[in-house]
Amino acid sequence: MASLVVEKVTKRFGKFTALSEVSVHIDHGTFCVLLGPSGCGKSTLLNIIAGLLPQDEGKVFVDGEVVDHLSPRDRDVAMVFQSYALYPHMTVADNLGFGLKMRGFSKPLIRERIMEAAHMLGIQDVLERKPRELSGGQRQRVAMGRALVRRPKLFLFDEPLSNLDARLRANVRLELKRIHRQIKGTVIYVTHDQVEAMTLGDVVVVMNAGKIHQTDPPEVIYNRPTDTFVATFIGSPEINIFKGGIVIKNERFYFQGKGFSLELGEAQPLALGGEIEIGIRPEDMELLPPGKTPLEAKVDLVSNIGSGMLVHALLGEEPVNISALKDTTFQPGDKVSLAIAPGRVHWFQNGKRL
Ligand code: ATP
Repeated sequence: MASLVVEKVTKRFGKFTALSEVSVHIDHGTFCVLLGPSGCGKSTLLNIIAGLLPQDEGKVFVDGEVVDHLSPRDRDVAMVFQSYALYPHMTVADNLGFGLKMRGFSKPLIRERIMEAAHMLGIQDVLERKPRELSGGQRQRVAMGRALVRRPKLFLFDEPLSNLDARLRANVRLELKRIHRQIKGTVIYVTHDQVEAMTLGDVVVVMNAGKIHQTDPPEVIYNRPTDTFVATFIGSPEINIFKGGIVIKNERFYFQGKGFSLELGEAQPLALGGEIEIGIRPEDMELLPPGKTPLEAKVDLVSNIGSGMLVHALLGEEPVNISALKDTTFQPGDKVSLAIAPGRVHWFQNGKRL
């Protein structure tokens, strides 16, 4: 395992800038997830780290050494792609051992590594089968196994689970987490799936349009998003964002939104004057009978989301989503009061966290 530093990497395709001064510092043994919407530059960054694509500016260091001049093979990285290709004519065991054989490892060592990876991935029973005799999930695990047996400095995964159905995906994800705990390799894992990022990552790098917005552990990304992009990209159902300003009425501070005002209590307003945005996650609000708080809303729709209900209401002129328990009795048309968990309001100005 190794540490990885990406320093001010820029990549252009013609006039289009796919990555703009991207910097990432990853300690050895870290499971780092690159997360962002389609086209934000995640795969481009991974390919540059692997040595498959040259950057226009900036440097990549592995264990403190510049690797920009090294070929993918000499960088000692193992990649697993979304569209993995196993050798169809070889058994699972041969597929797993092929890379080691080409590198001149001894037969007993190859066997030992194959058995170890097969055991970790739960594919011991299919080692003599050909890829066509496997399920999609088993094939995916063999593809991962091929990377695991190598024990490279860096594991690079590019959406490796996206071909799997939801259940299998969740299972393989858990396996991967367990394996990482066992082998403690340094992993860079690309996904656009926030659940995958939050469950797998020690560190999540949130990207958009070729730039990094935030690099932090998942709980920090969720609880202290650095800007409105991260706040809205992470979390399902999505955070509520309201535009407005701070006003003083009777010596008390309020957030004045469109058609509603929210008393700020003890909280000192961070930005007097000028437009700000506040963000409140649906689970940080509580629905109460009308008259219980000064914050009144009207229920518009109630959606069943399985584990609970999502109540869509109108707060002044603004739509708002509130998480509620399964047995909520509120109906469309009902007037309700909203209570907001103290300290759970996120403040932004010009999109940046205050
Ligand atoms: P996805 O989740 O859809 O795979 P991504 O975040 O991995 O997206 P990249 O594949 O890194 O995105 O692409 C980033 C941007 O660079 C995209 O707008 C893409 O169209 C562009 N791009 C990537 N490769 C090339 C290329 N060879 N030539 C021109 N543009 C490219």
